[in-house]
Amino acid sequence: MTECTHQGEVSCTRPSSQQVRDLLRQAERLCSQRKQRFTELRRSVLGLICGGQRPLGAYALLDELRKQGRSAAPPTVYRALDFLQQQGLVHRLATNNTYIACAHPQRSHEGVFLVCNGCGCTQEIHSHDVLETLQGCAGEFRFRVEHAAVEISGLCQHCESAHE
Ligand SMILES: [Zn+2]
Ligand SMILES: [Zn+2]
Repeated sequence: MTECTHQGEVSCTRPSSQQVRDLLRQAERLCSQRKQRFTELRRSVLGLICGGQRPLGAYALLDELRKQGRSAAPPTVYRALDFLQQQGLVHRLATNNTYIACAHPQRSHEGVFLVCNGCGCTQEIHSHDVLETLQGCAGEFRFRVEHAAVEISGLCQHCESAHE
């Protein structure tokens, strides 16, 4: 696998509050460029996803919002998640139905993810080759790809060494 821009170990650490602030600022900028409303709820949901140590599901998000003293109904949260997905700010992981923040929302792209079965930490890798190969294979079957997410499950470095 070449052209992976995030070489190194899968990060299991919680992002710093500075990183979360930077991501939120970036999201705000993108939304205003695209003339989209970055509402308080969309911002809170994205903040929680960005700040999480691992990807979060809708119900975990609802719990977190309640802890912040906000009462949001599930459909409202799902709408916020749809919006964030459409804007490329988060990706949905089909494997466990959770959401992960994208560090490169400027350019729309399909995701390739490494998902740890041990601790649930997930790393997005940016590899054009993988997706291009899959598109090519689908094309040979005259199949038009609408969505292609690749989710690779396994063990991160930490869980792997805990196993030994
Ligand atoms: Zn991404
Ligand atoms: Zn792990």
